[in-house]
Amino acid sequence: MWVNPAAARSLGYSCDQAVGSSIEGFLAPEVQSEFKSYLDRIRRTGFDTGFMRLRDRHGHERIWMYRNIISDDPELPVHVVGHALDVTEQLDAKRALKTLFERAPIAQIELEPSGKLRRINPVACELLGYTAPEIFSFDGSGPPDLADLFRESCLVGDTGKCMRFVRKDGCELHLELFARHIPASNSSPAGIICALINVSDRVRAEAEIRNLNAQLEAKVNLRTAELRRSNAELQEFACIVSHDLQAPLKQVGSILDELGSNSFAEDKSELLRLCRADIERMAMLIDSLLGYAVVSNRADIVARRVPLAVSVQESLMNLASVVASSNAIVNYENLPEVSVDEADFVQLFQNLIENAIKYRGAHNPRIRITASEIQDEWVISVSDNGIGIDKAQCSRIFQAFQRLHGKEYPGSGIGLAICKKIVERTGGRIWVESERDLGSTFRFTVPH
Ligand code: ADP
Repeated sequence: MWVNPAAARSLGYSCDQAVGSSIEGFLAPEVQSEFKSYLDRIRRTGFDTGFMRLRDRHGHERIWMYRNIISDDPELPVHVVGHALDVTEQLDAKRALKTLFERAPIAQIELEPSGKLRRINPVACELLGYTAPEIFSFDGSGPPDLADLFRESCLVGDTGKCMRFVRKDGCELHLELFARHIPASNSSPAGIICALINVSDRVRAEAEIRNLNAQLEAKVNLRTAELRRSNAELQEFACIVSHDLQAPLKQVGSILDELGSNSFAEDKSELLRLCRADIERMAMLIDSLLGYAVVSNRADIVARRVPLAVSVQESLMNLASVVASSNAIVNYENLPEVSVDEADFVQLFQNLIENAIKYRGAHNPRIRITASEIQDEWVISVSDNGIGIDKAQCSRIFQAFQRLHGKEYPGSGIGLAICKKIVERTGGRIWVESERDLGSTFRFTVPH
């Protein structure tokens, strides 16, 4: 009889075009057979409400949410007044969302705020190893992991949480849950959407790495303990050997003295002299070895703040007579305070200064000790104007018994090995920069 512009527009017509047509003609073919029962209903009850599927002018489906009543206007013949809301777009959006949920490539579940499952997508069913009917029939008394999963899904936020889940087939899974609370809207009630990410491979890999690390650490600890033990044994061996060697040496020395005082050995005096010299050298080597073993094996090392200038002064006091007899001039300036063992560092400076004096050239020894700061460590330099060292030999001299100069300079070749030991156990490095006849600069680092 009449149509308002909104109703006509929804179907793609003008009001004039629509007036005079039967509403039945607009119904979607699939529901046309229901038109008669609709008329019966409205005649019987006076009203009807629901969704109506219609076709617009272009053949596209439109869905109306309607509420139609029989008019009671006595002036007009009996007729139906209908109010409808075109909800096609809303339903399309809802359908799209549903499809999105169903076809999402990641496992998702939707819960009611109480934690009851509202829907679950196929990927989630496959991941959890249960069919959807099995999961929906779960009443809380079934598989405990499902109860845990739903409870956790309600509790987590979007920062994620890892949980263990046992599938129906007994396989263990590690799931990361990310949930979001969806507030109620006109079209849907409040709920929780939770994505389930299978992180089992990652968790297993992490566990494996932890396990490997632990094994590695155990191995390192074992090796370190073995090394410590063999080191200690070696030190003990060096001490015993050097102590034990001293006794027969002394014995041989006194026999030689005895022989020397005897007339029969008069013509062999040169041989005796050489013999005595060798024995003295042997005694010195043993002493040095003992010194090295003692320094290496010190158990009472204590690091505390030490001004290096004080260590230098103490070493100079120990070397007072050598310094004086060689007319050496030792300068030191701006030396820092560092955390080291005091006795160690007196010994370190003493060995370096003593060498600088011992390996002096034609001029009086001039020794300069300075410090510079590079990143997180100090570099201490001890320079001399002595005979210098061949560049190619510079690294070898820090090994025990490695000497570059022969009998003209007395020594056992242990001093620098001791320096290296001291520097390294303080966390530093030691090296020398030198050239023959151009003096040497020994440098070592000390951490801040
Ligand atoms: P030693 O002085 O008892 O031989 P060291 O271990 O102290 O043993 O030194 C090893 C070698 O390094 C020395 O024999 C010497 O050849 C060389 N050397 C050490 N310090 C200097 C120096 N300041 N100048 C030149 N050569 C040096």
